[in-house]
Amino acid sequence: MGYEADLKLFIDGSWRAGEDRDHFTVVNPVTGSGIGELPLASEADLEEALAAAQRAYPEWRSTDVEKRGAILRKAAKLLRERAEDIGRLLTQEQGKPFAEAKGEVLGAAQLFDWYAEEARRDYGRVLVRPPGQLSRVMHEPVGPVATFTPWNFPIYLLAKKVAAALAAGCSVISKPPEETPGCTGALARALDDAGLPKGVFQLVHGVPDMVSGKLIGSPVIRKMSFTGSVPVGKHLMKLAADSLTRVTLELGGHAPVLIFDDCDLEKTLDMVVPQKFRNAGQVCVSPTRFYVQQGIYEAFIDGFARRTQKVKVGDGLAEDTKMGPLANKRRPEAVAAMIEDARAKGARVVAGGEPGDSGFFFQPTLLADVPLEADIMNNEPFGPVAVSRPFDTFDDAVEQANRLPYGLAAFAFTENGRRANLLGDAIEAGMVGINTFNISVADAPFGGVKDSGFGSEGGKEGLETYQVVKAIHQA
Ligand code: NAD
Repeated sequence: MGYEADLKLFIDGSWRAGEDRDHFTVVNPVTGSGIGELPLASEADLEEALAAAQRAYPEWRSTDVEKRGAILRKAAKLLRERAEDIGRLLTQEQGKPFAEAKGEVLGAAQLFDWYAEEARRDYGRVLVRPPGQLSRVMHEPVGPVATFTPWNFPIYLLAKKVAAALAAGCSVISKPPEETPGCTGALARALDDAGLPKGVFQLVHGVPDMVSGKLIGSPVIRKMSFTGSVPVGKHLMKLAADSLTRVTLELGGHAPVLIFDDCDLEKTLDMVVPQKFRNAGQVCVSPTRFYVQQGIYEAFIDGFARRTQKVKVGDGLAEDTKMGPLANKRRPEAVAAMIEDARAKGARVVAGGEPGDSGFFFQPTLLADVPLEADIMNNEPFGPVAVSRPFDTFDDAVEQANRLPYGLAAFAFTENGRRANLLGDAIEAGMVGINTFNISVADAPFGGVKDSGFGSEGGKEGLETYQVVKAIHQA
């Protein structure tokens, strides 16, 4: 099936390509071969985008919330209607199985719908004052926003930022990842076709550091939101300090999964194995460090390995594929190095452990008895690898879960209600899933603590990150 993406920048309401812009080659991770050429923004393009975001902002922020909502809902409808075509582009650019890709597009549509509604219920408050006096607290949009999003969920993570910012009344310039431009361009087209005024949403690709430096350094941009790795997050926060630009950072994680001996083991294994290999493990909340209570440790390893060996790996466009290739050349190389390091330090490779024969494939992998000093116990593999160790007591499990500087998501499996309550309190993470992985939903805040960043996306908190508060006192 051909790759039918129209690769362009979207600036001030018009689609731009060609001229003397540099290009980035888009690669299909199944083969590792180029499938398209993406034009990259020049300094002049970015200046034009900044001027357009500034021009468009006053009118958009004063547009009636019903009208803003109607445009967002129309964009959601278009995304749903186009979900198959956009999903196919996503699979060709990123590798994930088509069903996951289509589901991602539908999830993005849900975010636009949800924020269209939530903006209507964004109430301020009136303070208690003597008669004749009035003090009110108002929410206002923060101003033009810049967003930077990664390639693992290129549509959903973009929608999480853009839907909330547009609903709040901000204009937005987005730099999605260069690896997946066809599917993110399709999201921009849905907003354009839905009638969003020109300059309110713009899409620029480019050399990442040039684009972020230019946008974050501009006095036009009042807020920046980034999803990606910890080192890049720290770098962007330093840039933001110079211009005192507000930041939201959704950085990496290394999610622990505590498996207690009172869980329903077969049911738990049926949940955790597909979840581990979803999007080939390239998920910031991917379940990765499996701590299993001693009495069921060997049974867990055995059941996990059997299921892992059955995961069907292949081209994401093939119907029976459950796991595609990794998204880019960097990932299988990084994963292989981490597995080698763990093996050398005494870990058992129970399933997988090797790269595939072509493209950026890597086998679904389970490591057992991984020593704490192995790199993979301390840095996220961001790939299809589960690591496991036994634990004895509740306190031991919590200590292991909290031992890293990350604090994004954590999971636990237990049928004991009291234990579940205690776990919810004891784990240092932005999201805790107990007997569930369903933690990324439109109406709930999603974000980390410690090195996993700060600020929330999703829920009413996601809208608030694109607002400032003002107190108005009147006597
Ligand atoms: P990377 O650190 O090079 O890049 C991470 C993301 O940041 C990419 O989307 C990239 O385009 C962007 N980026 C890089 N430099 C930038 C800059 N100066 N300005 C703006 N954006 C910039 O890593 P990578 O090899 O692309 O991904 C691997 C690592 O990234 C993983 O190990 C994982 O920790 C992290 N990651 C996290 C998430 C997440 O959802 N939190 C998503 C993707 C990647």
